[in-house]
Amino acid sequence: MKSLENNNSSEPVYTLAVASKLSFTPAHSIRQYIDKGLIIPFKTETNRHLFSEVDILRLKCIRNYLHDQGLNVAGINALFSIIPCWIIRSCDMEDRLQCDAYTSIKSPCWTASNKGLLCRNTDCRTCEVYKLPEKCSGPKQFIKEITNT
Ligand code: SF4
Repeated sequence: MKSLENNNSSEPVYTLAVASKLSFTPAHSIRQYIDKGLIIPFKTETNRHLFSEVDILRLKCIRNYLHDQGLNVAGINALFSIIPCWIIRSCDMEDRLQCDAYTSIKSPCWTASNKGLLCRNTDCRTCEVYKLPEKCSGPKQFIKEITNT
């Protein structure tokens, strides 16, 4: 089994079963997180999901929020939805106003139906916003890290 040495890789390499083992997360829970938009694994032409090292870190982060921080899935969804992606990506005001992620607190930006030009031309799986969980350390620390305060 491949190690997690390069834990910033977005390359989709792990099957659901391997992702489950590496993240200590039951496969049915991973499916639930996909349905809720908490993770966005790669989808093959045959509709199989493949997971990257970034996805594994995100799964571990979700596990930490659930078991150590006392959040539930809806709370984690809300937490991810308040990431100020427009600041991280330096979106201009025109882009922000076209983007559901700028106003919605229902779900993470990568699940938004309408996105600004910058995001429409970006693969969310490789975006620095989606990769944030590599610093996963609890909700408050998370806010401090993304706002640099
Ligand atoms: S590219 Fe995707 S993940 Fe990145 S800020 Fe835009 S919507 Fe969010």
